[in-house]
Amino acid sequence: MNFSIISKGDETSEKLKKRIKSYLIDFDLDFNEKEPDIVISIGGDGTLLHAFHHYIDRVDQTAFVGVHTGHLGFYADWTPDEVEKLVIHIAKTPFQIVEYPLLEVTVRYLNEDTESRYLAMNECTVKSVEGSLVMNVEIKGEDFETFRGDGLCISTPSGSTAYNKALGGAIIHPSLPSIQLSEMASINNRVFRTVGSPLVLPQHHTCLLKPVNDVDFHITIDHLFLLHEKVKSIQCRVAEEKVRFARFRPFPFWKRVRESFVKE
Ligand code: NAP
Repeated sequence: MNFSIISKGDETSEKLKKRIKSYLIDFDLDFNEKEPDIVISIGGDGTLLHAFHHYIDRVDQTAFVGVHTGHLGFYADWTPDEVEKLVIHIAKTPFQIVEYPLLEVTVRYLNEDTESRYLAMNECTVKSVEGSLVMNVEIKGEDFETFRGDGLCISTPSGSTAYNKALGGAIIHPSLPSIQLSEMASINNRVFRTVGSPLVLPQHHTCLLKPVNDVDFHITIDHLFLLHEKVKSIQCRVAEEKVRFARFRPFPFWKRVRESFVKE
């Protein structure tokens, strides 16, 4: 089996990377950064986001596992003092694959036939370059609202505990193939009106954002920040692809939520 390791780059993560690499090579696994079957991410949830985008072209062939060198993560659940146990699991046990839904974002441009397609593991955010974001929101081909405000966030279930949560969005279990649209400070008065609540859309419902005035936007895909010019529309839906995690022991989602946000 081929493996690769992505580290956050700090001293602790780099030391762990060396140790894990040498253990796995001793177990006759092949270190192959080009075509890994399993990618070990060492750092935090942010590091796993980087690892996911690094291997995005192998999303259906690569499984991820995360070791956290900071606080307990949603994607990174193994602690540094458990790495020997983890290495033995990787080398000796056929692992279970758990798949989480991804968000597909397609940006189309005015006067151009080309489009840009992205996959997000956490979310996509859309903000204007200057002033308020003004977007017509269509859901499943029907006009829904005209949004005016700071921006819009469209998240995956596993991303619902990240930026989405800070916007008052719901926490969604990653077994539900869905996307969530949440508002960033919408303008609501007698002239402008939005629904005001986060919306959870099922797999077969597409959300289409269409510019009203400005056509240049700042769009983020997880940690990636891009300026898109002359945008005609931004289409968001549940992707056909899924991200695959190697599971060697139960990792109950609600326990993670409790440990991250509730438990002292
Ligand atoms: P960052 O600003 O360095 O870190 C963002 C924080 O979000 C880190 O503490 C990270 O955990 C945590 N995080 C990432 N994915 C998560 C998830 N699925 N559930 C719970 N927490 C999660 O940025 P980054 O490391 O490049 O990560 C980009 C992410 O930052 C974006 O995808 C977005 O979700 C998040 N973000 C959040 C806010 C906000 O909450 N107001 C604003 C902007 C961006 P680790 O420390 O374990 O890496």
